[in-house]
Amino acid sequence: MIDYHVHTSLCNHAEGSMEAYIRKAVEIGLTDICFLDHLTMRPAETSHSMALSEVPFYFQALQRLKQKYKGKIKVKIGLEIDFNPIYIDILKEMIERFSFDVIGSSLHYTGDLNIVSRSSSWNQGSHDPDLVYDLYFEHLKKMLDYNYFDVVCHLDLIKKFGRKSLKSLDKDYNEILSTIKQKNLIVEINTDGYNHPVQDIYPSFDIIRKCREQDISITLGSDAHMPANVGQHYEKVLPLLIEAGYSHLTVFDRRKRSQVSITNT
Ligand SMILES: [Zn+2]
Ligand SMILES: [Zn+2]
Repeated sequence: MIDYHVHTSLCNHAEGSMEAYIRKAVEIGLTDICFLDHLTMRPAETSHSMALSEVPFYFQALQRLKQKYKGKIKVKIGLEIDFNPIYIDILKEMIERFSFDVIGSSLHYTGDLNIVSRSSSWNQGSHDPDLVYDLYFEHLKKMLDYNYFDVVCHLDLIKKFGRKSLKSLDKDYNEILSTIKQKNLIVEINTDGYNHPVQDIYPSFDIIRKCREQDISITLGSDAHMPANVGQHYEKVLPLLIEAGYSHLTVFDRRKRSQVSITNT
């Protein structure tokens, strides 16, 4: 089995050394572990991310561990980049300087609104949900205009604290999934939602089924911010993926894709 989304203490809100995550992955019998640590570029906030200047250290440290654990587990090196159109050129240039295995893109903000922090005005109950959802979809669609990434991380993260839109979101998600299919992107199945008030997988089962219908490939990650959470909640999620009709997960090597069986890994 694989875990294609773990963090490290470099992002300032996760704990544990890189090697501690790898050791945990080996301990639970994973075949692949992929680091997808945060790279968030925002004028006012970098404290929840490694700095751009730390990327060379991040890459080289993982490169060493990749070699050290060869034969025991495949260690992959990626980034979870926060979508922010202002910085795309800088980010693209940085991505090209290193041979990353995979690049994920995510939305933790819709414009200035933080959607992931418990204390944000959105998660404290302010704002009209329909307006915020519209804004979220607008940003997602904008993100999908760009080509710097392989994987769309936690597609419906906006539901994290259980705030729901009052209207049906089918049309928006159908449109977004069509674009994802057209652009040949991978959807990440992220199990971290079970640790939060929403108590659900990202994206939810009905969206996973839509992905299957559109023949969109998926990958799987825990979004672990501590070594103990590597591979978390897989016992709940794997049966759902199989029920949705998936038999394979996508893995990456220097941004080239291949498929591994869900059941044999
Ligand atoms: Zn994080
Ligand atoms: Zn994230």
